[in-house]
Amino acid sequence: MTDFTPILQAARQAVQVCQLVQQKHIVHSEKAGREPVTLADYGSQAVVCRAIQQHFPDYAIIAEESGKDFRELLTDEQRVEISTIIGDVLGETVSAEQVANWLDHGKNAQHEFTWVIDPIDGTKGFLDLRHYVVAIGLLQNRQPVGGILAAPEYPGGGALLYAFDDKAYKEPINGGEAQQIRVSSQSDPAKLRALESVEKSHSSFDRMGKVRQYAGLLEDNIERMDSQEKYGRLADGLAEVYLRLPHLDSNRKHSIWDHAAGTALVVAAGGKVTDVDGSPLDYSEGTTLKNHGVVASNGPLHDKIIEALQQLAAEEIES
Ligand code: AMP
Ligand code: MG
Repeated sequence: MTDFTPILQAARQAVQVCQLVQQKHIVHSEKAGREPVTLADYGSQAVVCRAIQQHFPDYAIIAEESGKDFRELLTDEQRVEISTIIGDVLGETVSAEQVANWLDHGKNAQHEFTWVIDPIDGTKGFLDLRHYVVAIGLLQNRQPVGGILAAPEYPGGGALLYAFDDKAYKEPINGGEAQQIRVSSQSDPAKLRALESVEKSHSSFDRMGKVRQYAGLLEDNIERMDSQEKYGRLADGLAEVYLRLPHLDSNRKHSIWDHAAGTALVVAAGGKVTDVDGSPLDYSEGTTLKNHGVVASNGPLHDKIIEALQQLAAEEIES
């Protein structure tokens, strides 16, 4: 069996880098017309890519940030600053040039396995001191087969949630015993706990509210939360439904790094993750999913939610 311990360790170190940046100060630039990016995004990705380079040197990597942006968007001082923080966490001297090279490692590799990295998923949550995760997924022949979510704000002082070889686990983020996790077995719609994004621009609260209502879920059982921690909670039996429905006029595609680790985790924990029509998420090409939305659940009510989505679609066609 493959030993993924070094990548779990890198996920922990990546969170340490994020926390050091968060404690000192948040330095961030807005990538033109895109999501915010912070020094910690580069630091986190560099640490994870470095571990992959050491332990899985031939595997391909698809990651959100690039060495090019690191060189072009940051000042010399910022590059030195984040390299110093990485060095402190790793206990070795790290140069800005090394960081730039780690960021791009595996980018052009062709391999059966691809690591898919979101160095800070939920950057807006990170900036506003809410929830965020370091997300590391693993695709085999472009299907999610493994994943790690390092979630510093997870209930109980932070957790490392991960799945490999069809089993899902959770352990304290600062080290400790791993326990196997499973999705909840709840099947009473009135008791289902639902999750959705905090950001109203990321998905349509209105459409998701209707779908839950049609499926018989109660509106007071909803929690809004940043990042793939939502998938983690589902895998861990702390919620049953996570919907991500785009606004009707949106044509923004879902990035694979926002879903790969979470999908693998929920499926390994016994849950289901599909498109709005019940078909599987399609990771087959490029950096985006081919799907319209995401429905993740513990299972028993999945078909009912898909039916509710069909009801919504029929209404939307009429109006
Ligand atoms: P969440 O906190 O669940 O909204 O997830 C954060 C992720 O949402 C970010 O990493 C972005 O890549 C992604 N995102 C940003 N805008 C959109 C959008 N319009 N539709 C779907 N995902 C988005
Ligand atoms: Mg993200």
